[in-house]
Amino acid sequence: MNLVERIDALLPQTQCERCGFAGCRPYAEALARGESTPDRCPPGGRAVLARLSTLLGRGDADEVDPTCGDYPGLTVARIDEARCIGCTLCIRACPVDAIVGASRRMHTVIADECTGCELCLPPCPVDCITLVPLAPAATRADSWSGMPAWWSESRAPRARRRAEARRARLTREAEARQAGARVAAARVARERRQAEIAAAVARARARRAGEGERQS
Ligand code: SF4
Ligand code: SF4
Ligand code: SF4
Repeated sequence: MNLVERIDALLPQTQCERCGFAGCRPYAEALARGESTPDRCPPGGRAVLARLSTLLGRGDADEVDPTCGDYPGLTVARIDEARCIGCTLCIRACPVDAIVGASRRMHTVIADECTGCELCLPPCPVDCITLVPLAPAATRADSWSGMPAWWSESRAPRARRRAEARRARLTREAEARQAGARVAAARVARERRQAEIAAAVARARARRAGEGERQS
């Protein structure tokens, strides 16, 4: 295991972005590069802070940075399907692909895959998503090790895999879009060159025709 993987293995995998990074793995990468501090994970609480500090050889904080926000404990998102307008904005926001639905159709949350990250709440234009508590914050012992065992043993590894799969898919889609844009730009450039050549040929012919008329 390299350092990024060892750091990532300590993180709760809610992919909630409270640390200021686009998920647990990007935070782990920033920590490995020395570009962030280990006190930025509210779901991990003091226990994860202590483990990260030990792993990284840092002891500069013993409380999670309060500017990263509070963590209410494990929750699961529910969509009020009667109010959902099928805009798909929540699907695009979900870091673990835990929402299914089609454009202008009712959307629903796959409860077993939802990390309760809350990232689907802000984009919903009709506020029809709510979070239902699964494990109250009081039982967390301020630590993701205080989360229920089923989370750390099964759900956290699954959330990691789903987040990685989503990141890989988004990268492939971005590359495909860039490749498509390059092909389109090359086609426009080729058509412009062909038009310029055709115009130059037409001008040369017109010039020759004019010269022929003057000589006759
Ligand atoms: S659980 Fe949230 S705050 Fe903690 S590392 Fe993962 S994305 Fe960042
Ligand atoms: S459904 Fe909402 S709360 Fe659940 S993982 Fe997806 S974005 Fe997060
Ligand atoms: S963002 Fe809200 S309205 Fe739009 S599809 Fe999701 S739940 Fe439905």
